[in-house]
Amino acid sequence: MSEATVRKLVTAIPGPKSQELHQNRLQHVSAGVGAALPVYIDHAHGAILTDVDGNQLIDLGSGIGVVTIGHTNDGVVKAVQEQVAKLTHTLFTVTPYQPYVRVCELLNKHAPGNFPKKSALFNSGAEAVENAVKFARKFTRKSEIVVFDHAYHGRTNLTMAMNFKAAPYGNGFGPLAGSVQHVPMSYPYRDPEGMTGEEAARRAITYIEKRVGAEDLAAIFIEPIQGEGGFIVPAPGFLTTLQAWARNNNVLMVADEVQAGIARTGKWFASDYEAGFEPDMVTIAKGIAGGMPISAVTGRADVMDAAHAGGIGGTYGGNPVAAAAAVAVLEQIEAGGVLEKAQAIEAFMLPRLLELQQRHSIIGDVRGRGAMLAIELVEPGTKNPNAAAVNKVVAFCSFL
Ligand SMILES: *Cc1c(COP(=O)(O)O)cnc(C)c1O
Repeated sequence: MSEATVRKLVTAIPGPKSQELHQNRLQHVSAGVGAALPVYIDHAHGAILTDVDGNQLIDLGSGIGVVTIGHTNDGVVKAVQEQVAKLTHTLFTVTPYQPYVRVCELLNKHAPGNFPKKSALFNSGAEAVENAVKFARKFTRKSEIVVFDHAYHGRTNLTMAMNFKAAPYGNGFGPLAGSVQHVPMSYPYRDPEGMTGEEAARRAITYIEKRVGAEDLAAIFIEPIQGEGGFIVPAPGFLTTLQAWARNNNVLMVADEVQAGIARTGKWFASDYEAGFEPDMVTIAKGIAGGMPISAVTGRADVMDAAHAGGIGGTYGGNPVAAAAAVAVLEQIEAGGVLEKAQAIEAFMLPRLLELQQRHSIIGDVRGRGAMLAIELVEPGTKNPNAAAVNKVVAFCSFL
């Protein structure tokens, strides 16, 4: 880590300027848009945020897994500056431009699956998930979608219905979209002792067959490592057993890699950790463009070509400036060093977290891959969630 990667406090947190800005915000911004830490950021580089009062903070949030390449990454800044001075918008479906095509080419090359692939670009993770549902329905001519306990897929109407948690995502915002069925995830820490990935998959398949039936099911959507749900890594064999069932039943497998993809886990995609797992489509967003808003669906060429021209798109999808940023990120990963860095974070952190677990009985589980690691806090001697301990840790980390 560079010398500049240090925390440096010059005022109380939040500082006076942040407090003033926050009063202004409360007056003008919808209360529905929360604020976890009302510290107003002026600029950032690498892992360091500098707030409006001049405090330097280590960014443990990284924009929720977005600026994994680092804030104001040199390659991203250069690509954005060059592109913004050349062309900011045409609408790709009217008059195209090259950066869009280059992003698709890079994603087709590196996404999981040993088959011809094509891609389409959008603005947000939720929009990518919604479009993957469209592709799946159009290709299979079936309607139903299966998702898992603890899943998170977004905040649009369809993706709210695909989330596990009603609070805070869905409560009061209904009616939610139908044709979505929730089935049990593989959750090694909480599943019956010794349950294998194959057994957990058979449990899910029983639910699928009873609750939906293969003849109506278009696709199974799964995060290969769950993000918002708590970095839950399914037991080995879970993903491939589901995939084998899906292939036998003309059902598509969609890996939602919005959070776990793009080098975060130490491989290009979290799906790459399970040998033989080749999802028909992957959804991609967060880490792809160093903070610029862009997302993608990459998948089997025949699936991606099933939609009619004009059926897929949107005004801003694959915007030239965001696409240039994505090319900069993807080419840096290709050039080497980024995957290795995520692997090094695991090698550094995991033994320390396991050692902490030995000393603290509130740490029930340590899990994850690469830079996507988690501890699960429980009441000592049980597996009961320990919300009080979580709140204390969060408050300690954010000075509250
Ligand atoms: C964040 C997230 C989404 C939604 O992405 P947005 O860009 O916030 O719409 C979808 N799926 C997963 C797995 C996510 O982590």
